[in-house]
Amino acid sequence: NKMTSAELRAAFLEFFRQRGHTIEPSSSLVPGNDPTLLFTNAGMVQFKDVFLGREHRDFSTAATSQRCVRAGGKHNDLENVGYTARHHTFFEMLGNFSFGDYFKKEAIHYAWEFLTKAMAIPTEKLWVTVYAEDHEAEAIWLEDVGINPERFSRIATKDNFWSMGDVGPCGPCTEIFYDHGEHIAGGPPGSPEEDGDRYIEIWNLVFMQYDRSADGTLTPLPKPSVDTGMGLERIAAVLQGVHSNYEIDLFQKLLNAAAALAKTDDLANSSLRVIADHIRSCAFLITDGVMPSNEGRGYVLRRIIRRAIRHGYRLGILDVFFYKLVAPLVAEMGVAYPELQNAQAQVERVLKKEEERFAETLGQGMKVLEACVAKLDGTVIPGDTVFQLYDTYGFPVDLTADFAREHQLTVDYDGFDTAMAAQRDRARSASSFGADYDQDIKLDSQTEFTGYGQLDDEVHIVALYQQ
Ligand code: ATP
Ligand code: MG
Ligand code: MG
Ligand code: MG
Repeated sequence: NKMTSAELRAAFLEFFRQRGHTIEPSSSLVPGNDPTLLFTNAGMVQFKDVFLGREHRDFSTAATSQRCVRAGGKHNDLENVGYTARHHTFFEMLGNFSFGDYFKKEAIHYAWEFLTKAMAIPTEKLWVTVYAEDHEAEAIWLEDVGINPERFSRIATKDNFWSMGDVGPCGPCTEIFYDHGEHIAGGPPGSPEEDGDRYIEIWNLVFMQYDRSADGTLTPLPKPSVDTGMGLERIAAVLQGVHSNYEIDLFQKLLNAAAALAKTDDLANSSLRVIADHIRSCAFLITDGVMPSNEGRGYVLRRIIRRAIRHGYRLGILDVFFYKLVAPLVAEMGVAYPELQNAQAQVERVLKKEEERFAETLGQGMKVLEACVAKLDGTVIPGDTVFQLYDTYGFPVDLTADFAREHQLTVDYDGFDTAMAAQRDRARSASSFGADYDQDIKLDSQTEFTGYGQLDDEVHIVALYQQ
């Protein structure tokens, strides 16, 4: 009798609809209103201009289930996937918002009521944090709601103080955590062991209260606002009585489909989890119009795809496989996201082509990597090798780093940068001799997102001298 993810998504929206909120659809993963943002990474993104007072909507409160990707930019959880119980590259964020309507008191009461009444989570399993200077929120929790002060902490760091940027709206947060039990390593929020996965953050409530000016002065906003976010997969794990997000209903079909391709039945295998995570971000990014490329968003997508394929290789999958997971994903999420269903054929085509292209060099690159590790003196994969893998075999640096981590090794990023710089110099002199451009280019150096004027399939041509 456990609530499914789909039921939970619906229950959340219905709870806030009954409390006067307008239910808005999820917006695209490609933010329409902010060219500086890599991907939509929170529910508030589509409302940014409403919070800033630049855009008017017909409602002053709203609730959404927003698709999010955190695989680059300010929030990057790519490296966490496969290692923590709670991080995905793609997830859904449930949120309720007040645009100058209600504030701290109502927001806190709604959250507590949803969790402890509507979802019937025992209060003794929850832990609350506030920003250390937010005495108002503290009083609401301790006196009004009457939570147990032994499961409460004041956090003085920016973890509990949110800001939109260096200037503009900002304010304190209050966060609600779920204690998954003492058999799991990790301490309560604010303790030195908090990074473990015992206490998992489920809901973050942001109180947009101030306007920060360039000199750092905080001026109270005339109409303070509320922005909240709760990970659907995390609250589903709580309600389904499992620890890891990957154990919830939503992931089972995907994990089983991936396990069948890998001919394994160990569903807790971390590579299977990585693949199940990555098919979601890749399929939704392509649905939202991102194409694999060597620039900006497209390069982030390419990196996620190649990472998934490398994990398939690790599991011993020999055929082109990744695109085969689109159908089980659509079966699971197509009802909630008709745009995914409509894009299915296109998503499969793009993924298949991308994998076929990478498959040609993956095996050879892995041999180079394994040979390097076999004769390695120390624990650092040299920059030259990292560069060779990148340049000749199309291994994004984070892919090599992911392999390294599995083998308790690290990569020499500085050495990689040096090799890259030398390469650039050579390419420059080569091109002055009128070298021929090979259209099937190698990867560009852009591993970090720096903004984008060039979002299409535009590529940087490097390594010409090697053709
Ligand atoms: P954490 O500290 O666990 O990394 P966060 O503080 O970075 O989470 P927020 O930015 O506050 O997360 O996002 C709001 C909510 O979205 C979180 O409380 C969590 O439930 C969910 N969430 C955040 N990042 C992820 C992720 N990578 N995968 C799944 N859910 C996430
Ligand atoms: Mg985080
Ligand atoms: Mg956090
Ligand atoms: Mg948070």
